[in-house]
Amino acid sequence: MINFQYSRASDVADAVRMIAGDPAAKFIAGGTNLIDLMKEDVERPTRLIDISRLPLRKIEETSDGGVRIGALVPNSDLAWHPLIEQRYPLLKNAILAGASQQLRNMASTGGNLLQRTRCAYFYDTATPCNKRQPGSGCSAIGGANRTHAILGTSESCIATHPSDMCVALSALDAKVHVTGPSGDRVLAFTDFHRLPESRPEIDSNLRPNEIITAIELPAKGFSANYSYLKIRDRLSYAFALVSIAAALEFDGETIKEARVALGGVAHKPWRDAAAENLLRGQPANQASFARAADRLLRDARPQEHNGFKIELARRGIVRTLTQAAQGIPQSQSDKKIR
Ligand code: SF4
Repeated sequence: MINFQYSRASDVADAVRMIAGDPAAKFIAGGTNLIDLMKEDVERPTRLIDISRLPLRKIEETSDGGVRIGALVPNSDLAWHPLIEQRYPLLKNAILAGASQQLRNMASTGGNLLQRTRCAYFYDTATPCNKRQPGSGCSAIGGANRTHAILGTSESCIATHPSDMCVALSALDAKVHVTGPSGDRVLAFTDFHRLPESRPEIDSNLRPNEIITAIELPAKGFSANYSYLKIRDRLSYAFALVSIAAALEFDGETIKEARVALGGVAHKPWRDAAAENLLRGQPANQASFARAADRLLRDARPQEHNGFKIELARRGIVRTLTQAAQGIPQSQSDKKIR
């Protein structure tokens, strides 16, 4: 374990001031990822700025019919909040598919967005990793890459984003509220995380010295026709090989609006507007869903050991859209895949 200073922020402005004054500092809330990274010597902050007591724990309705979620709301509280259960069950199901009950009790909403990849080489300081040490190389390319990305990869990094919650937030068109030295700004969720390109050490478009204060959900929650399917090596406490968040809205028998987001396949939750457009105005059947799946996976490029993910994702997309259309979502308590 490394030496570090500890400070507690008294309010959001204080937190921003503190981090601006110490570029090697890190915010800590639930600590469910950062402490692991410090134990493994991957993260070496000079200071931990404790933000866990900031007043960011409310879940409240917005004036336009949406919901604003404070960045410090624990994952469990979010999943079981009546507004989320009733209006955004896709988000609830994605959260319950992730981690363990104990971790969900500790992990914060904002921290979920900022968790880092679970690429084993990233955690192994004896191996080259561009994300941990820029310019050192990528051990996963040509190495053990069964769990790695098939979409949006680069020559520098093929890591995946590990979150389940973020896949649902992407499908729901959430927004991320942040505060920094130059004030507040709002990012579309789909713009929050980034692809690795030549700078895989940067996971998101959150600027240095900014803090996430809230996630906002729009009014539309797709509560009638949704499903979250997570396919993993074991049924609990494992990261997704492939996950799919699907949401549909109907006009009679015809699909009026469709959302599909993928997890476990890219450096960020993966959406493709062209695939969703293909579903609009179509009947909800296997042919429509297969066309959308093919579009979503059109640019997939497998590594040596993860080619199976392409067909797994294709079948998973069709299955999840079918579940959503039938109004019978994948159960997260009985995790058997129907
Ligand atoms: Fe590091 Fe990314 Fe390569 Fe994993 S895939 S070893 S995180 S550069």
